[in-house]
Amino acid sequence: MPENLSSQLEEYLPPPVLALAKIAGKEGSELGQELYLVGGVVRDLFLGRANFDLDLVVEGDAIKLAQELAKNSRAKLTVHTRFGTAKLNYPGFSLDLATARSETYSKPGALPTVKPGSLKDDLIRRDFSINAMALCLTPHRFGALIDLYHGKDDLDNRLIRILHPNSFIDDATRILRAMRYEQRLGFKLEAETEKLLRRDVAMFDTISGDRIRHELELILKEAEPERVLRRAEELGVLSQLHPSLKGNGWLSQKFEQARQSYKQTSLPPLYLCLLIYNLTDKEDEEFILRLNFPKNSAQAMRYTLQLKAQLNSLANSKLKPSDIYKSLHSYTTPAIQTNALASESPIASQHLQLYIAKLRYVKTLLSGEDLKRMKIPAGPQIGEILSALHKARLNGEVRTRKEEKVLVYSWLKGNQVKPPAG
Ligand code: ATP
Repeated sequence: MPENLSSQLEEYLPPPVLALAKIAGKEGSELGQELYLVGGVVRDLFLGRANFDLDLVVEGDAIKLAQELAKNSRAKLTVHTRFGTAKLNYPGFSLDLATARSETYSKPGALPTVKPGSLKDDLIRRDFSINAMALCLTPHRFGALIDLYHGKDDLDNRLIRILHPNSFIDDATRILRAMRYEQRLGFKLEAETEKLLRRDVAMFDTISGDRIRHELELILKEAEPERVLRRAEELGVLSQLHPSLKGNGWLSQKFEQARQSYKQTSLPPLYLCLLIYNLTDKEDEEFILRLNFPKNSAQAMRYTLQLKAQLNSLANSKLKPSDIYKSLHSYTTPAIQTNALASESPIASQHLQLYIAKLRYVKTLLSGEDLKRMKIPAGPQIGEILSALHKARLNGEVRTRKEEKVLVYSWLKGNQVKPPAG
């Protein structure tokens, strides 16, 4: 008799999600299709970790079932006919439905050839035993656990185990996934899995930059990505992404500091810039090319190193706020934040922090329109006056509109205030 987890499922899922899972199971049964909850949510149910991204596998036709479910609800339906998948978006949560499939790999790292299959086929194509469990949602077997690869035992023993010896050869992104789950959950790689992982690290050569980057981005969204990067260095994985990358104590310390200083959503780009901080420009370019980073990330990484090369000029305690502003205003925020964390000069760090916390927000009170109303003719002069005003404001020399107006008139008379130096 398979273990039955219906009561755990009832406790774990929020009532509206549970109700929907039951309706989906019943609807599937009416269409003659068995329906299963699979993957991360089953793992997290056992671990007591919240995860309500429901992945459902249908032995039959996922799209047809999704269409039936959409009929009597407010859900928004998205269908991918090519992949036999559908997504239903309900207010506050979503259901992913996939037709059970089998996969075969024509060569290492190739995208798999996919055919409709059974639940068993669908489970063996998965990455690790703990992600290859399913719970039946069909009414007569509601809550029955299907655990063909002893995922529950591996959860109890806190182990990450691949399902067959060629798993990392078929898809080397699983190497990054293995370390991510191991470190997130505080598990260990099962001994044979670790041996095969070490054997197959060179398989990254078979994987596209986009796929590697996607997994690296997932790592950088973890609560403590430095743990994964440290482990990646230890297992010889990080050097496969670029030989000069290091997941060492320096990186761990800087990631922790980043978490103390900045909000969660701004962390992943910062982590990325810290990761490349000790590369040369040439190495950085090689890494950008290999992982095919999009323009924004590539720019943040390049600016980080350009600013690093300029830090000496910021390590001068005599700089005025306007000098700091002038040095930094053309850099992107992650590049400045990264250097504030990573600079070895406390003075440069302070200047970078001052820019982030305050100087970048400083604006003049008078606008170009105000200057026109003061009878200053449209033309380059307006820009010059505004930048002189901005400089004076940064340095705390003017505080009110009135003081700004006084500065404008004195600038015009060409008396005390010289035209801005740039
Ligand atoms: P989390 O989002 O918490 O990291 P998840 O298990 O939901 O975990 P997804 O990346 O959303 O992870 O993948 C869903 C499921 O698809 C996984 O549980 C796993 O069974 C399977 N899967 C994902 N990527 C792979 C892969 N490269 N090889 C094999 N199976 C995979």
